[in-house]
Amino acid sequence: MVVGREELRAGVARLGAEIGADYPDGVVLVGVLKGCIPFLADLVRALTVPVEVDFLAISAYAEGTGRVRLVKDLDTDIADRDVVLVEDIVDTGLTLTYLLGELRHRDPRSLQACTLLDRTSQRIVPTPVRYVGFDVDDDYVVGYGLDHGERGRNLDMVVALDQGDADAYVESLLHG
Ligand code: 5GP
Repeated sequence: MVVGREELRAGVARLGAEIGADYPDGVVLVGVLKGCIPFLADLVRALTVPVEVDFLAISAYAEGTGRVRLVKDLDTDIADRDVVLVEDIVDTGLTLTYLLGELRHRDPRSLQACTLLDRTSQRIVPTPVRYVGFDVDDDYVVGYGLDHGERGRNLDMVVALDQGDADAYVESLLHG
C-alpha cells in the first residue's frame, strides 16, 4: 500500500485547510477528469469557503508522447477568478504545464495547482505545484481515482502495482 484510507482522509483535510486559508472569499476548483473524481469530491467537502467546481478532460495525442489536447472544456468563465487546478498525480509535469498554460490565457485573477500525488523523480518540466497531498516513488499506482486500464478507480486507498499480473492484483484488492 502506498497511501492508506486514514492517510488519505488526513491528507485531504490538510489540503482543504490550506486552500481554505488561502481563499477565504472563495475559489474555483477545476478537476482534470477522470482521475480527480474521488479526490475532488472529498476535497470540496473539506472546504468551508465558497467553492465552485468545473472539469476539464484531456486525451493524449499519441501514447507516450506526453502531448495532450482538451476534449472537454470548462463551462465556467474563470476571468478574474481564483482558480486551483486539481490533478490526481503529477508525473513528468507535461500535462499540468499544458493545462496551466490553457487556463492562464483566460485571465484568472490567480491560478495554482493541487495534486493528490506528486512523483517529482520523473519531472521533465519544472512545474510549480502549490498544494501536494503525498509524494510517491516510481511505481505505477492505482486507486482513489487512479486507474489501470479503467480498473481500480474505486479502491479507497492508493496501491502500487508490481510487475506481476496487475489485472489480477487489482481484482483481488476489489474483491478481497
Ligand atoms: P504527466 O503529464 O505529469 O507525466 O502525467 C500526468 C498523468 O499521467 C496523470 O494525470 C495520470 O493520468 C497519468 N499517470 C502518471 N503516473 C501515473 C500512475 O502511477 N498511475 C496512474 N493510474 N496514472 C498515472
